[in-house]
Amino acid sequence: MAEKTSRIPGFFKLPPQERLERVAEIAGLDEAAVRHMSDTGNLSAESADAMIENVIGTMNVPVGVATNLIIDGEETLVPMATEESSVVAAVSNAARQCRDSGGFHTAMSGALMIAQVQLVDVPNPEFARLQILEHRDDIRAICDETDPVLSQHGGGFRDVEVRVLEGRSGAMVVTHLIIDTRDAMGANAVNSMAEAVAPAIAQWTGGRTYLRILSNLADRRLARARATWTPEAIGGASVRDGMIAAYDFAEVDPYRAATHNKGIMNGVSAVVLATGNDTRAVEAGAHAYAAQTGSYRSLTRWEVDADGNLTGTLEMPLAVGLIGGATRSHPTARICLDIMGVTTAERLARNIAAVGLAQNFAALKALATTGIQKGHMALHAKNIAVMAGATGDEVDAVAQELVTGGTVRVDIAEAVLARLRGQG
Ligand code: NAD
Repeated sequence: MAEKTSRIPGFFKLPPQERLERVAEIAGLDEAAVRHMSDTGNLSAESADAMIENVIGTMNVPVGVATNLIIDGEETLVPMATEESSVVAAVSNAARQCRDSGGFHTAMSGALMIAQVQLVDVPNPEFARLQILEHRDDIRAICDETDPVLSQHGGGFRDVEVRVLEGRSGAMVVTHLIIDTRDAMGANAVNSMAEAVAPAIAQWTGGRTYLRILSNLADRRLARARATWTPEAIGGASVRDGMIAAYDFAEVDPYRAATHNKGIMNGVSAVVLATGNDTRAVEAGAHAYAAQTGSYRSLTRWEVDADGNLTGTLEMPLAVGLIGGATRSHPTARICLDIMGVTTAERLARNIAAVGLAQNFAALKALATTGIQKGHMALHAKNIAVMAGATGDEVDAVAQELVTGGTVRVDIAEAVLARLRGQG
């Protein structure tokens, strides 16, 4: 084993296989581990190497397909990339239960992203604010010249807004460029515009510009989904009332709301990842939006309509694209878009919102009825069986015994496995 060091000069210049060998030497990986890491599956080492730095392998995550969804009248199959059991089944179940009442209805507020330019060292920030606003046409020209391709696709500059904020070291003037990024998520697009506009803002005002970057609080790019579940479809009025009570809890308690929204993101992030989009960008936007009233709340709203049906809505920022980042360069992402039949970023975002709502329905229903662990049990038991060393047919056999016995624990799995092997 080579000396333990994290200093590997020229590491970034090596091809992936040589990097892997260097890491294997330092970390003491055996041949089997190196062979495992060399198998990059359906993302070639060359493609992976072109996506990020210092690549030595890939991390495969299962892609499952959620069934039963009708979204805006369309039968839709939704690929989901996730390592968490029960997520795909939950969406499929929730979607089945609202098929008779029309499935999911979705909408989008637009595809507007916000880029921020921070200006400091201005003694009269309100004056500077108006100076910047007077240059709206110049700002439009700079933005659109920066990304003529976006303009050709019908996107580009839409508006400018300027806010004066009180920082600890004095006032700052924050310019928001409002840009329609069409089928792109738009981070690179709007960051370039913010960088191009900044010197002009400094010149017009006499101040100094610092940060020039998008906001992930994409509250001009809200995806909306709604659906109705009849009491008959979900197991009766008491289930509905239990779900409303669970939702009420999330509305008044951030400790609960965090977990409630995490459940929504189980679905949202899985589709975002399957389509090669930026999960962190969407997650940051979702949680910031959930806290926009000053207290952290549920991203969904649940009510009972005049006929006693359960109605749910989800509204959240969803900055996703079909162009740029890994959406184009990852072959799996492209195929996942094909499975969904998605040809616009708006449709992708709307489908994701439907999945988020379905996921939340499933979690609330499980919590209000059997509890969350029961639904998780079968797949969880399989994971525990594998942890205990089960392989092949043993996995199902051990898992089955764990579920029947009612306690899913690795020590019990080990005992079951030893007994099965002893019998064999
Ligand atoms: P991009 O710059 O790679 O591609 C977008 C460009 O494609 C547009 O600017 C436009 O010129 C062109 N284009 C061609 N056809 C288009 C169409 N129909 N609609 C729109 N544009 C079209 O990608 P991007 O979307 O600007 O940036 C996304 C990437 O930025 C993601 O990988 C993300 O992870 C990364 N990123 C995110 C953050 C953040 O969220 N804070 C910060 C930096 C980078």
